[in-house]
Amino acid sequence: MAKVLILGGGFGGVIAAERLAEQLGIEHQITLVSRSRQFVFYPALVRLAFGKAEQADVSFDLRHTLLNRRINFIEAEVVHVDPSERTVTIGHGEVEGKLPYDYLVFALGRRLATERITGFYEHAHHLLNVDKAIRFGKAVKKFHEGRAVFGQCVGARLPVPVYESALALARGLEESGERERARITVVSPTTLEAELGDVAAAATLKKALDKHQIEFLPNLSIESLTQDSAITKSREAIDFDLLMLVPPFRGSSAASYLEITNDEGYINVNSTMRVAGHERIYAVGDCVNFSGPKMGHMAVRQAEIAATNLAAEIDGREPVLRYEHEMKFVIDEIGTDSLYLHKDLSKDEPATVKQGRFWSWAKRVHEKYWELSHS
Ligand SMILES: Cc1cc2nc3c(=O)[nH]c(=O)nc-3n(C[C@H](O)[C@H](O)[C@H](O)COP(=O)(O)OP(=O)(O)OC[C@H]3O[C@@H](n4cnc5c(N)ncnc54)[C@H](O)[C@@H]3O)c2cc1C
Repeated sequence: MAKVLILGGGFGGVIAAERLAEQLGIEHQITLVSRSRQFVFYPALVRLAFGKAEQADVSFDLRHTLLNRRINFIEAEVVHVDPSERTVTIGHGEVEGKLPYDYLVFALGRRLATERITGFYEHAHHLLNVDKAIRFGKAVKKFHEGRAVFGQCVGARLPVPVYESALALARGLEESGERERARITVVSPTTLEAELGDVAAAATLKKALDKHQIEFLPNLSIESLTQDSAITKSREAIDFDLLMLVPPFRGSSAASYLEITNDEGYINVNSTMRVAGHERIYAVGDCVNFSGPKMGHMAVRQAEIAATNLAAEIDGREPVLRYEHEMKFVIDEIGTDSLYLHKDLSKDEPATVKQGRFWSWAKRVHEKYWELSHS
């Protein structure tokens, strides 16, 4: 009998646990530890903020879903991992102490390094959890004139909600007849091409931004914030009345002392998703060291690969399935112009870019599918 411990109850952890339960015999024990029993469907948080989804639509209770699939769930904080002892220390939860494991899967997501931007906590909105998205939504409701600024900080790896939010605000103000009274700006530390990883996709998105009179300011690294101004590295001040920023990301602190991470704390893995230099440990999702944005579909694919390889390893077979790094996303909230992009990040080839209302619908269907298949 093998004890498999999965750390983290997001896209990566849940899919790894489910695929392992499908592939391993009932004699093996699968346990998932996460600090919250709530699974959050992050891609729906923009719609939550803009009043197009309810809180109940964007999260669900994990415990029953996992138990139905014979996966034990423990609600607790991962405090310490000891690969030499093969234990994980957990605290602040329903169970505290050391959990032994034979195989481990890291799926702890990313850390929001808000401390790297002076004044972030006091002056910026973000929407990277349910509470913050609701708070940002309340500020959006009060915004009727002035300047709204959206953007990513250096090290943030999530362009989609930035553009969706700017477009959703523009469309909302157009509908209420207030668009002329507001200026909407998107600020990027790089260029649109670099953020989307593709020239054609950048041109398509720029056209959508222009259509809604959203200005785009490239190559501006925000370093600090005051109550009404974002100060860039080159000492420019960008005034705002409403600000939504994606803060810098870093890897999970639970892995930072294990000498398995790069400088930003992301876990180094090989293409089988096994942690470099470590037997019996896999890592998936936002916590791993891969180029480009951090996306849910990547976490899901990596979890499928890790689960299949881990099951093979337990069975005494070689882990042979390889992860191929690709990027897919839909930028919604453009109405009939919603944008779909698919790019193989291992090749220097142009992305597939498509546009139309269908992609908006497809994103919702995907959200519903997740909800129905996990609640
Ligand atoms: C607003 C927004 C919009 C997005 N839109 C898209 C999109 O359109 N398309 C797309 O593909 N992706 C999108 N993403 C990105 C996607 O949500 C992430 O890439 C995905 O959630 C990563 O999954 P994960 O399992 O690696 O990490 P997470 O989903 O972050 O899960 C990590 C889990 O670990 C738990 N955890 C962390 N630390 C500890 C600890 N010390 N102890 C115990 N538990 C811990 C957390 O509670 C959480 O359950 C979006 C994200 C946001 C925030």
